[in-house]
Amino acid sequence: MIPPAFEYLRPATIPEAIALLQQHGDDAKILSGGQSLIPMMKLRIARPAYLVDINRIPGLSYVKEEGGFLKIGGLTREAELEASLLVRSKYPILLDTAHVIADPQVRNLATVAGNLAHGDPANDHPATMLALGAQIVATGPRGERIIPIEDFFVTLFTTALQQGEILTEIRIPSPPAHSGGAYFKLERKVGDFATAAVAAQVTLDGSGAVQKVGIGLTNVGPTPIKAKKAEDFLRGKKMDAASIAQAAQFAADEAQPSSDLRGPAEYKKGLVKELAKRALSRAAERAAK
Ligand SMILES: Cc1cc2nc3c(=O)[nH]c(=O)nc-3n(C[C@H](O)[C@H](O)[C@H](O)COP(=O)(O)OP(=O)(O)OC[C@H]3O[C@@H](n4cnc5c(N)ncnc54)[C@H](O)[C@@H]3O)c2cc1C
Repeated sequence: MIPPAFEYLRPATIPEAIALLQQHGDDAKILSGGQSLIPMMKLRIARPAYLVDINRIPGLSYVKEEGGFLKIGGLTREAELEASLLVRSKYPILLDTAHVIADPQVRNLATVAGNLAHGDPANDHPATMLALGAQIVATGPRGERIIPIEDFFVTLFTTALQQGEILTEIRIPSPPAHSGGAYFKLERKVGDFATAAVAAQVTLDGSGAVQKVGIGLTNVGPTPIKAKKAEDFLRGKKMDAASIAQAAQFAADEAQPSSDLRGPAEYKKGLVKELAKRALSRAAERAAK
């Protein structure tokens, strides 16, 4: 289907993009990879009068470690994340996540920032970023502000980004020694959105007990969910089969799925329990290496 008519704007700098977003207010939308926005426009769910294409703004595409963070630029594509040697060696949970997003064609264009900014609870990066305790850098008319990922997802398709703000960077605290993470997703077929998925990131102390833990759930509620009860339960415990099973049960209790084409709500809760067990077990294995 053909999208409704719109005016195409192509700023060369961030200040220029912000000025255009301010000038056109709610009539304008940022275009990055276009892999969510363009399908929504074709379905006429979104009808922006102005598209502010940020793709030609230089310096926004990078994956690097700096100042105790992994920094992912606002225009970094999924394919770049997958190809990054840094991600491959130190952030396997990010690789797990990028691998199961759509297909290679989509990943060549789709950006990590767009995946978060879209505010879709079915998208895969939000749960992983919740598990990793990421920070969002939003650049707007009043400069830069940092939004903790826990405060970023407000409601369905709504984030804490304000009018005129661009997601310019994602910051992930560099994991200390004895850290590991994993993302497990069940999809109906390759390239599909998750029926459910679970991200888990843990750091173990010298005795092998859990010092830090993050657990995020995909597509089992109106927003991505941070499984706080499961996290609280695991902190200070050894990651044996019994504690993992109990934490997975808490995660399932915290899920708020609805019944739909992907299955009944009870099935999805059961799925969260199983995927949480697998993600936590893999995270523990990786942390112990
Ligand atoms: C066939 C298909 C299958 C897919 N399967 C999956 C899947 O399995 N898992 C998954 O997670 N995703 C999936 N996706 C979605 C895809 O990953 C998302 O489109 C993508 O992550 C969004 O990023 P984008 O750069 O394409 O954003 P766009 O489509 O350009 O934008 C999406 C929204 O975010 C806003 N936005 C974009 N960038 C910024 C920014 N820097 N600052 C502020 N706002 C911004 C836009 O204004 C728009 O509202 C699929 C998409 C397709 C087409």
